[in-house]
Amino acid sequence: MVKNAVKTVLLHTGALLYGNQDSKVIYYHDIHDNTAYTSMSTPIKLFLKHLETIQNMNYTVVQEITNRKNEIEITFDDGFRGLYENFLLLIDRKIHVKLFLVTDFIDKKNYLTKGEIEEMLGSGYLSIGSHSVSHQNLDLHDRKRLIYELEASKKKLEDLFDRQISSLCFPRGRFSDLVIEESEKTGYSKLYSCLPGSYFSPYRKNLIPRSLAQHALPSDFSAILNGGDQIYFKRYLKMHYRNGDLA
Ligand SMILES: [Zn+2]
Repeated sequence: MVKNAVKTVLLHTGALLYGNQDSKVIYYHDIHDNTAYTSMSTPIKLFLKHLETIQNMNYTVVQEITNRKNEIEITFDDGFRGLYENFLLLIDRKIHVKLFLVTDFIDKKNYLTKGEIEEMLGSGYLSIGSHSVSHQNLDLHDRKRLIYELEASKKKLEDLFDRQISSLCFPRGRFSDLVIEESEKTGYSKLYSCLPGSYFSPYRKNLIPRSLAQHALPSDFSAILNGGDQIYFKRYLKMHYRNGDLA
């Protein structure tokens, strides 16, 4: 409780400090009604509250951000099944989401099947990107294994779903200069991080900031939309980036 209160105060202080209406990417792991497939899943009621807040704060959910202000891209990581079970709620509201898939997890227990992903893609409200082959920290691999994780996942998704894959999301948000270099060489032009910030203020070219939204209470969520979580930037950078400073 105390911890939550401190977090709320920090987020709202951040919103005052950094407060902006910049376009941003937010991320979740799953949504659920009765059955949660992961402790990272967001109850559907809370998720719908978030959508309401997005609308009330004059943001629009888009497939790809193209405007500096007022746009939100919603992303999901890992490929849990709850998204499929609740997908009609998104279609009804014309909400587009981007899903980052771990290719080894497809068709496994608690994860989406190939058929379910195809069905969602067919609705026009889903796009997909790679989240590696095995979900191990990319910054810990040697170059050869790193290249395998990047290339094999891209190729598998392209073969399975017959489309170009150009977005990558780092497992556990972990990356390094080598990860960035090899990802770009592999053909990824958008690298989704777990560092908070505005879409058009990347800390490095192609490196896209994202804000964690999955358990945010509605009032904290509005502070996040205003950029309040940038107050955690240094802490997140230390947790996720191997080479020190991005400046
Ligand atoms: Zn993940």
